[in-house]
Amino acid sequence: WSDETDWDIAEFEGEQDAEHVPLPTVAIVGRPNVGKSTLVNRILGRREAVVEDIPGVTRDRISYEASWAGRRFMVQDTGGWSPDAKGLQQSVARQAEVAMSTADAIVVVVDVTTGATSADEAVAKTLRRSKTPVILVANKVDNQKLEADAAELWSMGLGEPHMISAAHGRGTGDLLDEILAKLPETPREGTGITGGPRRVALVGKPNVGKSSLLNRLAGEERSVVHNVAGTTVDPVDSLVELGGKPWRFVDTAGLRRKVSNASGHEFYASLRTKGAIEAAEVAVMLIDASEPVTEQDLRVISMVAETGRALVIAYNKWDLVDEDRREMLEREIDREMVQVRWAQRVNISAHTGRAVQKLVPAMETALESWDKRISTGRLNNWLKEVVAATPPPMRGGRLPRILFATQASTRPPTFVLFTTGFLEAGYRRFIERKLREEFNFDGSPVRVNVRVRE
Ligand code: GDP
Ligand code: GDP
Repeated sequence: WSDETDWDIAEFEGEQDAEHVPLPTVAIVGRPNVGKSTLVNRILGRREAVVEDIPGVTRDRISYEASWAGRRFMVQDTGGWSPDAKGLQQSVARQAEVAMSTADAIVVVVDVTTGATSADEAVAKTLRRSKTPVILVANKVDNQKLEADAAELWSMGLGEPHMISAAHGRGTGDLLDEILAKLPETPREGTGITGGPRRVALVGKPNVGKSSLLNRLAGEERSVVHNVAGTTVDPVDSLVELGGKPWRFVDTAGLRRKVSNASGHEFYASLRTKGAIEAAEVAVMLIDASEPVTEQDLRVISMVAETGRALVIAYNKWDLVDEDRREMLEREIDREMVQVRWAQRVNISAHTGRAVQKLVPAMETALESWDKRISTGRLNNWLKEVVAATPPPMRGGRLPRILFATQASTRPPTFVLFTTGFLEAGYRRFIERKLREEFNFDGSPVRVNVRVRE
């Protein structure tokens, strides 16, 4: 609650944190073994391939931050991905499909030493109708002799094949120039303000199960990305496909790498948490259900509410909760969580997998509320009735009149009441409660500000 009474509506509109301006994404697609991971590592400036193949484990799309010629962008790596049972051709085409709807540019890699296979043709067919810019790369052109083979790839109908040798670095600088020329400055318009996958922060105190949950969601048994000396750019986010859609888990580098987070200074841990929350649209806050809720938990929850992000509270380690503990927990929640009664709640076990599938619908509901816009007409018709039934209390012998209201912004929904006098916090909370009852903002903070007209 802000006690500011003279907000300017313009302040709400287009509010954005410059530090966390989302970056455009280039997706690297192609069938297995054409050299996608090698190319990604080359782009990231790594010395050697760091991606392990784990048979039978589907590695999800992961994206890394990279920069070239002073511009920052994201590289979406599908390198360690292995095709599912549907067959190679269909799976690779589906990858290209996902890239078309999530990336801002697509690099499709073909291996010149084998030439275009039927799987490559299937990808090309999909990508020929892409509105997202496509760059065709002929990889493994280690020497001049192979250039003629590369030229044959013109037949794929994707324009000029860019000849590179990802392994040796041949032609990769020119390729990066070409990628940047085609990559827009800002990410595509899509689901979010700035589009692209919705951004999620996984937060909670050390050992609450964040890494376990991320691994569980990504369907991995262990961390697949290893930090290597000579890495110039840290992988920052993880892109994980859930419920048929990609989600960007922000600032999960530490979780994947599992450096000793716990030994870090609490102050820095908290800074990091704050950064992740700011970069995200929805926070998934993990609480250890088997232990009493702590001050630290409550601080993070306040941080999410104050930053104005959608919130899902996941009570983790539910497998350790017995009947007694369960009753105690419900009492703790009643007592401690009043501030965020509106949050979505799920009881999960990252360890056994219990109910983790409920996270996606909870995040979706929360984001829907966070994005919701109520028209001024509807809002004012409703408000008139509410105020008539329960007018604001007198102040200084005068009854403040509410002239009209408007929803100044979404993300989170922010309402401004234009009045003839100051409205007490209690009355604004009452309006918030009524707004929630009428329009349903489950999972999202709602702000009610007052602007006094003289
Ligand atoms: P991905 O499955 O598409 O990610 O392919 P990888 O990056 O794992 O590469 C598959 C194999 O091709 C590896 O053995 C690489 O060393 C090799 N490779 C990648 N790029 C080149 C290249 O430019 N020239 C040659 N000769 N081999 C390459
Ligand atoms: P982080 O520090 O938040 O990333 O926590 P971790 O994911 O490393 O988990 C800390 C410890 O809690 C590990 O020993 C996990 O195996 C354990 N753990 C995580 N989730 C669960 C759960 O749902 N149930 C149980 N019993 N243990 C869990």
